[in-house]
Amino acid sequence: MPPTTSCPHCGAPLEPLTVVVNGREVRVATRPCPCPGAAAERAELERREADEERARLVRQAARRVERAGIPRRYAEAEHPKAQAVSAKVLAGRGVYLHGGNGTGKTHLACAAALLCLMRGMDVRFAVVPSLLEGIRSRSKGAGEAVSSLSSCGLLVLDDLGKEAACTPYAAERLFDIVNERYNSMLPVVVTSNFTRGEVARRISEGEVGVAIASRLAEMTDSVHLDGADRRIHG
Ligand SMILES: [Zn+2]
Repeated sequence: MPPTTSCPHCGAPLEPLTVVVNGREVRVATRPCPCPGAAAERAELERREADEERARLVRQAARRVERAGIPRRYAEAEHPKAQAVSAKVLAGRGVYLHGGNGTGKTHLACAAALLCLMRGMDVRFAVVPSLLEGIRSRSKGAGEAVSSLSSCGLLVLDDLGKEAACTPYAAERLFDIVNERYNSMLPVVVTSNFTRGEVARRISEGEVGVAIASRLAEMTDSVHLDGADRRIHG
């Protein structure tokens, strides 16, 4: 057995902790010294390990938020209605948030999406005008985006109906996404300046806009946000 060691803080000999291997006693560690110096060192080590673990969890959460496509501005968004919206989503129900500019629709959608993300849901956030632009220009990765947006646990469609200039092709791909989610009973959270009735015309002249709006009417509960609400809750 190696020689007995002593505490670097108080100099007391440290009692070896042993196990018996093949009939021989082997020292595997020493009993922790009860002196204040040694106790402080152990506490400091535990504190540092806890700090590192916390930092690791924060980095991991930040990566998940980034992968979900939630804008950095809303990466820590909180909203008094977020809990209620996320509860619906976690129960499989969609939410349609509409109201004018500055009523906090995107803020609420992101705050709810973050709660769902924390509950382990696979979340994707898509700004509809940019999504349609990517589809319209058939940009690289647009097909992949359509497929992942169709199948993720929660899809946030931000600013639906903002751009009326949606080509029939792009409108059809948007319908594919919504319809796929409708069939798979996967929730969506939509933000829009328009009601579900108005949004159909905004998406397309033809029937695709109507079809998207009618799917959304079945999939979502409509929540109207107004400026007063924003002021009350800050
Ligand atoms: Zn000691």
